[in-house]
Amino acid sequence: MAKNPISPTIPLDQDGVYHGHLKLPYSRDDSAWGSIMIPITVVQNGEGPTALITGGNHGDEYEGPIAILDMAATLQATEIKGRVILVPYLNYPAFLAGKRTSPIDGANMNRIFPGQADGTPSQKVADYFQNTLLPIADIVLDFHSGGRTLDFLPFAASHVLDDKSLEAKCVAARDAFNAPFSVAMREIDAVGMYDTAAEDMGKVFISTELGGGGTATPQTIAIAKKGLRNALIHAGILDEQLSMAKTRYLSQPSDDCFHFIADGGMVEFCAALGDHLAKGDVIARVWPTGHTGRTSQEVIAKMDGLLTARHHPGLVQSGDCVAVLAVEE
Ligand SMILES: [Zn+2]
Repeated sequence: MAKNPISPTIPLDQDGVYHGHLKLPYSRDDSAWGSIMIPITVVQNGEGPTALITGGNHGDEYEGPIAILDMAATLQATEIKGRVILVPYLNYPAFLAGKRTSPIDGANMNRIFPGQADGTPSQKVADYFQNTLLPIADIVLDFHSGGRTLDFLPFAASHVLDDKSLEAKCVAARDAFNAPFSVAMREIDAVGMYDTAAEDMGKVFISTELGGGGTATPQTIAIAKKGLRNALIHAGILDEQLSMAKTRYLSQPSDDCFHFIADGGMVEFCAALGDHLAKGDVIARVWPTGHTGRTSQEVIAKMDGLLTARHHPGLVQSGDCVAVLAVEE
């Protein structure tokens, strides 16, 4: 098996606060012996659980990186028991480019797990997380938002798992994160996801979707910062009181949650995020852009539910997911 070329510039298992990089050799035209330097902070204080916290899995989602940078700049070793590993940008080239996927190899980090030690730069990062960082973690929190093309109700998510004991632990961690919405999440395409890699290893895993549109708001950033601290408190790493507010529980019982369109155009949403829709209601209209005098296509709700996610830009393409519904418990 090929050896992963990534090396940390700081110790991963020493007491104290260490700021450094995961150094990924990357030989290229403008730097023959160059590297990609992925920022990382490790805070450790004695025995205890390890939390692995990541943002920037997709490079155009900002709540996670902001909350992680804020914690990395302030967290003291004496505040914790155990270890916190903070990686604000899982897909660092994508983050620097402001894109969902890496401009170097085109990789969507959340579709290439378990990665490959002798693969492309993104595959090497995935392999390093799969074989070095995930195995030493007890709880894993991976921040997401909608990015440039989706917008979400702010929620923390767990997945429905075959291992019901692990699922219950993930639900408890999700609920401790305490976003305004808590979702038992269905995935369109779970193959190659970091989530799946962590869950298959038996790790307690929390994901989020905290907004979108390629930016972050004061409200969604506050949710991320509070949720991050709450997750560490829940794990027994921070010794503080959980900060809890009301959450609303959502589930996604079938693939009827997802509403795709066959033809592109200009989208006119008829409902806003959080609105309740009944089966048969018009969620959106998609207008053809090449002609006047033609009617729009209607996107019809296939089930009752809350509008939980929507396409963000005003133009949609063939095959786009325009709207996602979820059922309030
Ligand atoms: Zn994402």
